[in-house]
Amino acid sequence: MEEKPLILMTHDLPPDWVENSLNDFRVIFGDNDQRGIDNKLEEYIPEASGIFCLLDDPIPATIINQAPLLKVISNMAVGTDNIDVKTCTTRGIPVGHTPGVLTDGTADLTLALLLSVSRQLAEANQDARAGKWSSWEPTGWLGRDLKDATVGIIGLGKIGSAVAERLKPFGCKLIFTNRSPLPGQEINLNARQVVLDELLSTSDFICLHVPLTQETNGMIGKEAFAKMKTSAILINAARGPVVDTDALYEALTSSRILAAGLDVTDPEPLPPDHPLYQLPNCFITPHIGSATVNTRKVMAGIAIRNLKAGIQGEPLPYCVNPEVYKPS
Ligand code: NAP
Repeated sequence: MEEKPLILMTHDLPPDWVENSLNDFRVIFGDNDQRGIDNKLEEYIPEASGIFCLLDDPIPATIINQAPLLKVISNMAVGTDNIDVKTCTTRGIPVGHTPGVLTDGTADLTLALLLSVSRQLAEANQDARAGKWSSWEPTGWLGRDLKDATVGIIGLGKIGSAVAERLKPFGCKLIFTNRSPLPGQEINLNARQVVLDELLSTSDFICLHVPLTQETNGMIGKEAFAKMKTSAILINAARGPVVDTDALYEALTSSRILAAGLDVTDPEPLPPDHPLYQLPNCFITPHIGSATVNTRKVMAGIAIRNLKAGIQGEPLPYCVNPEVYKPS
């Protein structure tokens, strides 16, 4: 009898998310506490037909090139910056991801961060718990209004647009930058496309929604902070390395900007002793943009569909390098 194809999964999933969908495969699971291809998985790389991984599992060329039978890598995330996609494309290996399904969840979380930071919810909550709520203070816990504020969105793709949609009823002025011109979105969202410098210097709130690429890595560094208003609030729900962490710390501690809300950091996870946690004007969540019950379950389903299609030699429903299907 022919042996079932071997799948390496870096992390297990709740049984009701997977059901019987992996019955046709031999599956080896990595250690949930380790990232990437760990010791449990390493020895099986040469036999693997598929890899199922998460966004913080590095899959570099050294792993891909040890796997002669590899037919697919399926990432349970929309971003695939953890995978050497170029090497996969050269090898003709399709890479799957889960776009679209996490748009609403991540846009909701972005709004939650924006409102939490602008209204100092974390500090107000901590103070209330600590018995510091002694009276209704006219000048206590003062926040910033969204109404009439200028919100600048960097990267007006699926999530950036969903954030803009959510912001419409708040009565703010929307501006954005994007790699390609989006005249249709200017009309749909009543937003103006501007150059990055104008966005940085005029926005009260800056929301990052670009993918992590060579171009966006470190996009918000010392120079960018120098252009921002001292009252600016930065929200990063994209990828940690889009912001230079040292420059952010410096900007927050020197009052170069007012505050930041981060769902993503560099490094990730941010170690518990990291100085950013000590700053009252920095609100951090542990990369939970897509963390709703429904979103994660749907993401897992799509990632499994991508995996199965790749193993069966069919086009992936959601492929980041569809050029692998073009005749060379
Ligand atoms: P998307 O639809 O591909 O949107 C990305 C947008 O960024 C596109 O409009 C793109 O423009 C633009 N862009 C790319 N490079 C740019 C640059 N150098 N300057 C300005 N704009 C640039 O992706 P998405 O679904 O909205 O997701 C965006 C990112 O969010 C993902 O890549 C992922 O890293 C992150 N994310 C985070 C979480 C979380 O849990 N916090 C969850 C989901 C996603 P073009 O159309 O011209 O290429």
